[in-house]
Amino acid sequence: MSLTKDQILSALSAVPNPTGGGDIVSADIVQWVATCDANVSVKLSVPGAAPEARSTLRAAVERAVRTLAIGEDEPLDRVAVEFVDAAGSRETAEQEPGEDAASPVNAKYVIAVGAGKGGVGKSTIAVNVAVGLARRGLATGLLDGDIYGPSLPTMLGLDAHEQQVHRSRLQPMLVHGVKAISIGKLVDADKPLIWRGPMAHGAFKQLIERTDWGELDAMVIDLPPGTGDVPLTLAQSLQLTGAVIVCTPQKVAQDDAVRAVRMFQQLDIEVLGVVENMSYFIGDDGKEYDIFGRGGAEVMAQRLNIPFLGAVPINMQLRANADAGNPSANFEPKTAGGDQIPKALSQLVDNLEKQMALAAMRQGQSKPTLNIS
Ligand code: ADP
Repeated sequence: MSLTKDQILSALSAVPNPTGGGDIVSADIVQWVATCDANVSVKLSVPGAAPEARSTLRAAVERAVRTLAIGEDEPLDRVAVEFVDAAGSRETAEQEPGEDAASPVNAKYVIAVGAGKGGVGKSTIAVNVAVGLARRGLATGLLDGDIYGPSLPTMLGLDAHEQQVHRSRLQPMLVHGVKAISIGKLVDADKPLIWRGPMAHGAFKQLIERTDWGELDAMVIDLPPGTGDVPLTLAQSLQLTGAVIVCTPQKVAQDDAVRAVRMFQQLDIEVLGVVENMSYFIGDDGKEYDIFGRGGAEVMAQRLNIPFLGAVPINMQLRANADAGNPSANFEPKTAGGDQIPKALSQLVDNLEKQMALAAMRQGQSKPTLNIS
């Protein structure tokens, strides 16, 4: 770790003082900064600040340090933010809400769907995989963890549904056979900034921990694109079976996907495989056109020694069904514009089921039993 104290102080001087004018450095709120390996510790003093203000400040400080580390290309594990009183002693009552709540997610398989970059069809794959698993009889949950751009409300048609809360726990919405929760149903669409950045960690953690998921066979999590702190939170909060990486065939998309694969591996999360989305296009003439250079993601998977889960073509009906919030339609040739998409999705779900079962077995979650009679 070569972030210096001065760099950190300069990054923190962009965080506004929540109790008055100026920033937290010039207002002497920052009392202490230290770095050790990939860890940064910051002590703050804001006597009399309300718990919510502290929580917001903590997140803003964390965010500023993480943004600095990303900009400087420095590894960063943990940003510890402590509140101290005027004498420098640690104050209590600084735990984030829900921090000590045990995760109620009880699922046999927990699969995170990630991508190196946005717009490659990560959410589309997450939604269709979840619906595909549910159609095979698995009790399936789907969490829209893409807190920077939640697409599930549209893709699952959640607009007509009200978010229910029972005993301060979120109730997932049952749509297309899947139990779904999206942050898009919890924030005011006009004020997404609240969730952009500072609250990412806490927001995501609460979505996982404060939802009544019940017993699940499979839980699918749609992650934000890229490599940020949400996967870190995820790795800390849940026992993941593994991650699925979605990628388009182009070289640039693959470079980002490789970075995403490496990130999961660094977090000790098994990569279950790669999906090549927008792989090719079948024209009205019945010919297949390799618009982005089909097969690139498969080669990448081979090179990285990870499974290739399948290719999904560019298809207008798939896009239309996503916009209409009707993913179930992708599984029937009549509503999917032919058998191209149902076939591709069924192969993908087949392969994923195999890989998740193998991964779970390797992780000792479900040991095979031999019955001799
Ligand atoms: P991401 O989650 O990676 O940002 P999305 O899943 O939101 O990407 O997809 C971006 C857009 O591309 C959406 O409008 C979606 O319907 C469309 N799309 C994704 N995959 C395909 C595909 N195979 N064929 C046609 N449209 C697609």
